Amino acid sequence: MCIFRGKREKILEEKLLLLIKLQECDSQLVKLSAKKKKLPENIDKLDKEFASFKEEIEKNRVKYDELKSSHSEKENKIKRLNESIVKTKERMLEVKNNKEYQAMLKEIEIAETSRSNIETEIISILDELDKLSVLVKKDEETLKQNKNKYEQEKKTIENDLNSIDTDILDWEKKRIDVRKNVAEDLLAKYEKIKKRNQGIGVISVWKSVCNGCHMNIPPQLYNELQKSNQLFSCPNCDRIIYFQDMEKQA
Ligand SMILES: [Zn+2]
Repeated sequence: MCIFRGKREKILEEKLLLLIKLQECDSQLVKLSAKKKKLPENIDKLDKEFASFKEEIEKNRVKYDELKSSHSEKENKIKRLNESIVKTKERMLEVKNNKEYQAMLKEIEIAETSRSNIETEIISILDELDKLSVLVKKDEETLKQNKNKYEQEKKTIENDLNSIDTDILDWEKKRIDVRKNVAEDLLAKYEKIKKRNQGIGVISVWKSVCNGCHMNIPPQLYNELQKSNQLFSCPNCDRIIYFQDMEKQA
């Protein structure tokens, strides 16, 4: 009787262990396929964040370039004004008519005022370019650091993603090995329960609480669960349950 009981318990224990192993394979496979879906999204998010950071930090640089081209435009304007002043002065030497001479003087005066205004604008542009160039240098350093960080993070995620397929194959192989030893009727029961319970067919119970549905197990069932090695089901979620001392395990 004693030997019989011992043998029976051992068989039940093995059945349960196999189911627990099978559950671990299934849970890992679910986790891995979720990760496989999630990681490219993470990469996408990282790319977008870096792109918008780059755009923001390059604003000073863009402003600097705009001012730089505005500066050379204004320098060209001054060059053209100088040329036209020289030409007018040359023409003045040949003019005999006083009215025409006065008109040319006026023309030169207007050109000189315009030149003076542009020169004032150039001084303020140069001033701003000076200030901006300090900021742009700082921004470039910040961008460089952030780019390094971004590239490292991206590389880590990509490496993770690359190893997922290998991990999936490993767990699938493990699953096939475990599955071979699970009796067909028990496997069918497990699969059926698993399907109805968000992928979890077998779960531990500790301190009278089912770790699947977090509901209390009746005291008598909890007692039996600890003493006997029978396969029990949670009265609430129907998952196959087993007793596990969480403190002992930790
Ligand atoms: Zn439950």
